[in-house]
Amino acid sequence: MGKRIGHFLDGKIITGGDRVGPVFNPATGQQSGEVALASAAELSAAVEVAAAALPGWRATPLARRAEVMFRLRQLIKERGDELAAIITAEHGKVLADAAGEISRGLENVDFCAGLPHLLKGEYAEQVSRGVDVHQVRQPVGVVACVTPFNFPAMVPLWMITGAIACGNTVILKPSERDPSASLWIAERFTEAGLPAGVLNVINGDAETVSAILDHPGIAAVSFVGSTPIAETIYRRAAEAGKRVQALGGAKNHMVVMPDADLPAAADAAVSAAYGSAGERCMAVSVLVTVGDIADPLVDLVAERIAKLRIGDGTDPASEMGPLITEQARDRVASYVAGAAAEGATVVVDGREQQFDGDGFFLGVSLIDQVKPGMKVYDEEIFGPVLSVVRVDSYDDAVRLVNECQYANGVAIFTRDGKTARSFEFDVEVGMVGVNVPIPVPVGTFSFGGWKRSLFGDTHIYGPESFNFYTRRKVVTTRWPDPSETQVNLGFPTH
Ligand code: NAD
Repeated sequence: MGKRIGHFLDGKIITGGDRVGPVFNPATGQQSGEVALASAAELSAAVEVAAAALPGWRATPLARRAEVMFRLRQLIKERGDELAAIITAEHGKVLADAAGEISRGLENVDFCAGLPHLLKGEYAEQVSRGVDVHQVRQPVGVVACVTPFNFPAMVPLWMITGAIACGNTVILKPSERDPSASLWIAERFTEAGLPAGVLNVINGDAETVSAILDHPGIAAVSFVGSTPIAETIYRRAAEAGKRVQALGGAKNHMVVMPDADLPAAADAAVSAAYGSAGERCMAVSVLVTVGDIADPLVDLVAERIAKLRIGDGTDPASEMGPLITEQARDRVASYVAGAAAEGATVVVDGREQQFDGDGFFLGVSLIDQVKPGMKVYDEEIFGPVLSVVRVDSYDDAVRLVNECQYANGVAIFTRDGKTARSFEFDVEVGMVGVNVPIPVPVGTFSFGGWKRSLFGDTHIYGPESFNFYTRRKVVTTRWPDPSETQVNLGFPTH
């Protein structure tokens, strides 16, 4: 059955109970191990550990907390290859892509190393005669972080760095498909000096997440995953009185204007649609051609597709790896199978590409003449499938994007500054790229979509995470001379 993947509790790896799930190497299709799936009782024991660690961590000086971040940064930089190998073995993405994910995740460690500055409060002197006010940021308590399979290192780092920097203690519940990266990060955090119990990795599935939502000892939940689950998490956590941010799925459009450099736009579309086998929440899944550029642009994309090398992520020659599971591959293939019957034109059919062995590989697909109302347009496919929607004008393109239920990322390709500026103003999407196909904000900004791509009001990582992971307390102070005090039943004014 391969290796046993347990939990990381109170500073050490533990085996966990009897409930387990399989973990595969997607490139071979073989099961490589089994992961423990925590019960409600095991989750509850972890909450006790995290709650016990809270007073000590909360009282730890900010400079000491920052030192942990600096050391963690160093450890991940020195040993990033190990982490990349773990990611590729369980997720399937190519090693270079795994290294890219680690590097983007490290931006969050870098940002949080500035925590002594970021946790500074506010002060106003003399708000009334002899009265001053200051505001402090205090941790919210035990925070649960629930993450998806597609970025097994970066998304946990989006959450746990901010939560820990702010003085909270954490229960991280990674995806049961690729749980080992989180355990590796927790071990490095501990080596970096993080006290036992501050970061706990509890592996599990829907049952474990349910226990998280029901547990009164958890104050806040950060979630990233698919929209239906994100919506449920948001509702249930809010109903239970928890602070919650729940990021969901996406359908990201790339609008190409008639004046764009078409070969450059084709390069960007292919990279952003098929990188990581399309299993990125910011992947481009809809190419919107404006005016009469559709035929040449589709040809340029198809030319590039023919040269893509798909294979085992450990092979440096591979540009794209397999999908995460057999079921995911078959689900993605079913969209391509149904597209023609819906009236679309399958220009490149990824199902025709043959692969040796039992890996969960699927070739890339390009589908033209797609329209809203078709399944291939309306639903998040989360695989290497790029749809082309042809529109006549800029206004039609903006209307199409704004009518989509998802609003995570969007991009426009143009050489005209005025068009780009109008697009930025008009488009109802949380993250916008101008000649940038995957506009994931750098770590000094925060990440989040609009509409059904994010439930809650706080974006993740960066400055907004310091709001999500702290409670603000406002203190009003006066040092009166006892001789000046008197009884006054009126409401205090200035
Ligand atoms: P998923 O929703 O299936 O799982 C996410 C997490 O929820 C996992 O930890 C899983 O164990 C847990 N979970 C699964 N079913 C559950 C249930 N019924 N109740 C409670 N918890 C449950 O998502 P996934 O397949 O792992 O990841 C892919 C999805 O994540 C895509 O939709 C993608 O767009 C989205 N995503 C979004 C962002 C973003 O920032 N908006 C980033 C990455 C991924």
